Amino acid sequence: MNSQILPGATLGMLGGGQLGRMFTVAAQTMGYKVVVLDPDTNSPAGIIADQHICAAYDDQQALSEMADLCAAVTTEFENIPAQTLAFLEQKTTVRPSSKALAQTQNRNVEKQFIASLGIATAPFLPIRSRDDIAQADGTIGFPAILKVATFGYDGKGQVPCDSLDDVYIAFDALGEKECVLEQRIKLDREVSVVLARSETGSVTNFPVAENVHINGILHSTTVPASVSSEQSEKAIQMANQIAQGLGYIGTMAVEFFVSTDGDIIANEIAPRPHNSGHYTLDACRTSQFEQQVRMLCGLPSGDCDLVTPVIMINILGDVWGNTQPNWDSLLTEPNVKLHLYGKQEARVGRKMGHFNVLAADTASAMAQADRLFDALQGE
Ligand code: ATP
Ligand code: MG
Repeated sequence: MNSQILPGATLGMLGGGQLGRMFTVAAQTMGYKVVVLDPDTNSPAGIIADQHICAAYDDQQALSEMADLCAAVTTEFENIPAQTLAFLEQKTTVRPSSKALAQTQNRNVEKQFIASLGIATAPFLPIRSRDDIAQADGTIGFPAILKVATFGYDGKGQVPCDSLDDVYIAFDALGEKECVLEQRIKLDREVSVVLARSETGSVTNFPVAENVHINGILHSTTVPASVSSEQSEKAIQMANQIAQGLGYIGTMAVEFFVSTDGDIIANEIAPRPHNSGHYTLDACRTSQFEQQVRMLCGLPSGDCDLVTPVIMINILGDVWGNTQPNWDSLLTEPNVKLHLYGKQEARVGRKMGHFNVLAADTASAMAQADRLFDALQGE
């Protein structure tokens, strides 16, 4: 049965970061109320929500309150304990499911799931104890990367390794936590697919996005991506297969490597809207956040077509001095849209906002984006 949750209803968001904030804006724009649960008193989403429940993600009393208030609950953060979603599932509609989320919380589980679908991943080996490391000999080529299996983001908890000896040292340095050892792929480029899947299993795909990372953090997203139509179709097909395999309902993303051999290799799944989908806010007919609202509520999906070529540039706390940067360089450009997340404290590497450059073609957008990014680095 396809039961719709109509505007006027209250929706729940687990997590109060920028993704939750942009969901909240989209939901409120469509006439919904939003309750955000986040332990931070000043979270970007909590401060604009209709109601902020300031509590830990495992606070059952707070979760019960949320379930009572909300017709449906979603999340912006893959590290919400899966048990939290399972608890809420007994009381209200939860999308994506606790089961889908659980598959993406641990890099080993996630990679084994992707591989079980017959989709290529970087050669990998779960490392749960020192004894596992020897198995890498001859199976995982170097250079490689040792990554903590849980709670990594923006390249945190990752150590490059050039030899088996390096892996032992890195495993110690990471506190002997469960890890995955991954062969380093020779990258031609990186792309991602943001998609939305409905409760009836129909999927809408946003255009394939091309991503550049600096120091493990997303720097820019360019759309259309400069990959062949064959590569683009392959990435979309793989992402759809993953969404279907998860029984996913909502907006999600899959990150891919494009190897120098031209192969498309799945990197990781984001069970939520994705930073590389922020371009959709200004360049697509429907944003990834509006689509998240539509999927959560069982509404028809929006059109994902690209209206204009676009480049998204992340704004990190690095460009804050004692005060915020002068935004005039961005605000005076007619084809640039600035988005800030309302975070009170700027820190190096912290995502504070982004801007989208809309242009006739990606080459001119790129030149302008580079110039504007340099201008923000400041005086
Ligand atoms: P985020 O949360 O920002 O997506 P993350 O911490 O989950 O990042 P990954 O996506 O695993 O980390 O890695 C971050 C970046 O490091 C990748 O986008 C890629 O540029 C590089 N990288 C990671 N693993 C590999 C690999 N096996 N081969 C080549 N490059 C890699
Ligand atoms: Mg990643």
